[in-house]
Amino acid sequence: MTEASTDAPMIRVSAVDKYFGSLRVLSDIDLEIPRGQVVVVLGPSGSGKSTLCRVLNRLEVATSGSILVDGVPLPEEGRALAELRADVGMVFQQFNLFAHKSIIDNVTLGPVKVRKLGRNEAREEGMRLLRRVGIADQAEKYPAQLSGGQQQRAAIARALAMRPKVMLFDEPTSALDPEMVSEVLEVMADLAEEGMTMLVVSHEMGFARRAAHRVLFMADGEIVEDTTPQQFFEQPESDRAKDFLGKIL
Ligand code: ADP
Ligand code: MG
Repeated sequence: MTEASTDAPMIRVSAVDKYFGSLRVLSDIDLEIPRGQVVVVLGPSGSGKSTLCRVLNRLEVATSGSILVDGVPLPEEGRALAELRADVGMVFQQFNLFAHKSIIDNVTLGPVKVRKLGRNEAREEGMRLLRRVGIADQAEKYPAQLSGGQQQRAAIARALAMRPKVMLFDEPTSALDPEMVSEVLEVMADLAEEGMTMLVVSHEMGFARRAAHRVLFMADGEIVEDTTPQQFFEQPESDRAKDFLGKIL
């Protein structure tokens, strides 16, 4: 997608349902995310947070409803879909780096293939991104030679190399040893500060308070609360949210 329609929200989800067989995992979801907004999504396991992320870049196909990214409906296949996935960067709990490729190759592969960058240009930009996430010295290593925190920062650099319009993070720190969580949250907070539109599934309250403009609380496939971080953590409205916060705090 090359046409940017600046007045449209970055993401517009209207009446989206997602079923797996007879299980309704997303129920009539409406959601608008303006450009530059940082949204943290919380909710119990199985509430549909990952599925919400995945329908936004068509890793899963919504059963009904409509999804627009930057004013344009999600393409169904082909080159347009590859470009959508470049526009909507995603970072997963399990990093998902290519194990048999060096870190710099992980970062440059997409830009060469999808953005048609020359190898040298892709490499220069890739090194710039690795410096930005603080792991330029790891560029020639393989993922397994890096710590979890370094691998996740490489995964963020890889997504950024596609020059995304929006970044989705699905529990990006949940698989990390505790001492590596902050180095990843730091990179994400910088990105938020630079104005990236972000949807972040995370229970890291410190990050939500510091970087999020908005918190969504999901339960049973619905957005139950949609408010500010301060309001959510200090005065949650629903019993579901109170119960949930009682368990994670
Ligand atoms: P969360 O990320 O909030 O834990 P998910 O979006 O992963 O929730 O899952 C929501 C519900 O959908 C869960 O009941 C889960 O078991 C189910 N689910 C997720 N993915 C699939 C799938 N590919 N096939 C069948 N059921 C799925
Ligand atoms: Mg999940």
